Amino acid sequence: MATERTLSIIKPDATKRNLTGKVVAKFEEAGLRVVASKRIQLSTAQAGEFYAEHKERPFYAELVSFMVSEPVVVQVLEGEGAIAKNREVMGATDPAQAADGTIRKEFALSKGENSVHGSDSPEAAAREIAFFFSGLELVG
Ligand code: GDP
Repeated sequence: MATERTLSIIKPDATKRNLTGKVVAKFEEAGLRVVASKRIQLSTAQAGEFYAEHKERPFYAELVSFMVSEPVVVQVLEGEGAIAKNREVMGATDPAQAADGTIRKEFALSKGENSVHGSDSPEAAAREIAFFFSGLELVG
């Protein structure tokens, strides 16, 4: 399997509860390497644009207001099959459905406040990494 890069966001419910280190430990234990990382405060416009594909979904407004409610930590993770591996470590969207040992099972509060975002395809990973980082900031 090829080495890939994927975008991760540690969401406001996790940064607020000081869980950044515990979430990063899950990535590292799974063999993913953090090759870029920054803590930022998203604006409503930025969060709206990032989640534009969900614009028609009933939870869109709630999702955008949640994502700007506290700072987030955006990261690029690198590793063998990193896109799928990150999704595996994250667990299902709804923590009630997430497998044992996953980030969402251990830390998420609800289907909306679910601690992490991860790119779901190579196309999404490329778009989402470029949304937050310039090439100069990727120092794997
Ligand atoms: P993901 O790829 O597992 O993050 O899930 P989706 O792409 O389906 O949804 C994107 C994000 O929207 C999720 O991670 C949640 O934060 C949020 N979301 C999804 N479904 C719901 C919902 O039913 N209610 C609320 N409030 N948020 C939701």
